[in-house]
Amino acid sequence: MGYIVSREGFAEVIAALRDKYRIIAPIRKKGGGRFTDVDVILYGEVTDAAEIELDAKSDYAPKEFLTPLSETLFYFTEQEVKEADLEPKPVLLFGRSCDLHALERLDAIYLRNGKAKDIFYERRRKLVNFVLIGCDKSFKNCFCADMGTNRATEGYAFSVDRVGDEIHADVPDAEIAKIFAARGREEAVTPRYVTENEVHVTVPETIPAAVLKSPLWDEYDTRCINCGRCNFVCPTCSCYTMQDVFYTDNGKVGERRRVAASCMVDGYTNVAGGGQYRRKNGERMRFKVLHKIGDFKKRFGFQMCVGCGRCDDVCPEYISYTNIINKVSAAAQDAGKEAE
Ligand code: SF4
Ligand code: SF4
Repeated sequence: MGYIVSREGFAEVIAALRDKYRIIAPIRKKGGGRFTDVDVILYGEVTDAAEIELDAKSDYAPKEFLTPLSETLFYFTEQEVKEADLEPKPVLLFGRSCDLHALERLDAIYLRNGKAKDIFYERRRKLVNFVLIGCDKSFKNCFCADMGTNRATEGYAFSVDRVGDEIHADVPDAEIAKIFAARGREEAVTPRYVTENEVHVTVPETIPAAVLKSPLWDEYDTRCINCGRCNFVCPTCSCYTMQDVFYTDNGKVGERRRVAASCMVDGYTNVAGGGQYRRKNGERMRFKVLHKIGDFKKRFGFQMCVGCGRCDDVCPEYISYTNIINKVSAAAQDAGKEAE
């Protein structure tokens, strides 16, 4: 069922939905970006529809709710362990088509990667109802069309497209449809999506072993400064580390936190005895890229990268991940010809 509501009507819809749901959406923080006059768009709970950033691509991804940068999992004493509380109210989580596809990637890693599910991810995931923000244009660095993630036709509670002063919404959720129906007119709505991006990638079908030794990676030994920003904004990066925090008043009591980790930063591959598997930044880049466009697919049958372009947006060294994919593709072709 589709509905068209005015801007004021949409504000009423959001106000009504807040009775049942927490609204987690992209929010623009003025001056919160890399420089004092640069904004940042990140995720947070909104109380008013006007706070939701519908027009620009968010710098951070909806995983901010599902896998927070730092999350206390449980508290411990000498005798017992208590799971950390989680606000049980269902969530309406706003994101774009690529973000909805990214949820499928996170679900694969946390819920279907081995015998046991990750219960801490699962309890958050069960709360999530996705709200699809339509894309009326392709943003800078997006390559969703080439990754096949430019369109979502299911898996959302409702969609939102700002068209002039109106909001157009496709509302598959019957209960939420009643809220829209009371404030707008019924009309068929198809969420907007892009069919073409400015940036294109060719993802190789197979990546020959020779690509691992290609000199293409050497450039990143010096260009990449292993800051890890590309991982933290990526909607599909899911690595984490554990930290036990012991309270100063009683050193036998504390909490265990799950903290986001990055395969690009120092320490990620440290092992006992002082070993480190990937010392060079080029080696780390190789690991990251081949995981995103090869290794993940071998396990789950679909590519990990969803083509959101956030890694390119955020890199302080202007390293283009899409260029790397195309270089890998060319190297894979060359390796194939040499093998013939
Ligand atoms: S690797 Fe880059 S383009 Fe791909 S999903 Fe992650 S942030 Fe988006
Ligand atoms: S954001 Fe750029 S410089 Fe930082 S780790 Fe990623 S690729 Fe390297």
